[in-house]
Amino acid sequence: MKIAVNKAHFPVTVLGPGRRIGIWLQGCGIGCKGCVSQDTWARDAGREMTVAQLLIWCREVGGGALDGVTISGGEPFDQPQALAALLDGLIRWRADSAADFDILCYSGYPLARLQKAHEKLLRKLDALIPEPYIDNQPLTHLWRGSANQPLLPLSVRGRDRYAAFVAAVADPAAKRMQAAVDGERIWYVGIPARGDMAALEQSCAQRGVAFDTVSWRP
Ligand code: SF4
Repeated sequence: MKIAVNKAHFPVTVLGPGRRIGIWLQGCGIGCKGCVSQDTWARDAGREMTVAQLLIWCREVGGGALDGVTISGGEPFDQPQALAALLDGLIRWRADSAADFDILCYSGYPLARLQKAHEKLLRKLDALIPEPYIDNQPLTHLWRGSANQPLLPLSVRGRDRYAAFVAAVADPAAKRMQAAVDGERIWYVGIPARGDMAALEQSCAQRGVAFDTVSWRP
């Protein structure tokens, strides 16, 4: 089974509790205004790998202390069969190794649509952050980009781990972004506040670093 992946990283500490594997899938047909991840929109066969390869990488990097896996994008539910295979593999690994990591997934689709079309996938998750990003709604809550996006625990493990964060307010002074360098590409993990990326670009330009292309503009 092939899966299109924009990037994967460990440890991610700004998208869910603890030290997590982050997997960003490639391809999104939603196109929210103001999306900061426009590099993930195009379907790109060049970014495909097998689910088995991705799971091997997960076991390699997360074999020690792993608190969770966060799947984002792109739109994970635009690859439903690949997402199902990935989730099945993660759940098998968790059971075989007696590990206790949770699985959190983002989606830009409305909850009602996911419940209607992907109920089986939802049953494989511990927590879900659905609904599109809405540019003119403020960033109010932890791990969410706009105020319309809920955090929904979906399993017993999810309720144990996420109940305390459902109404958690985003702390403007707390760390919310990570950065990583990959060759000539710098990428950011986390939920930027409004204007953060423009401020970063301006700050880098003042220091003589200009970005060729950025993910927050077409
Ligand atoms: S915010 Fe998420 S769902 Fe919306 S366009 Fe960007 S990647 Fe797609």
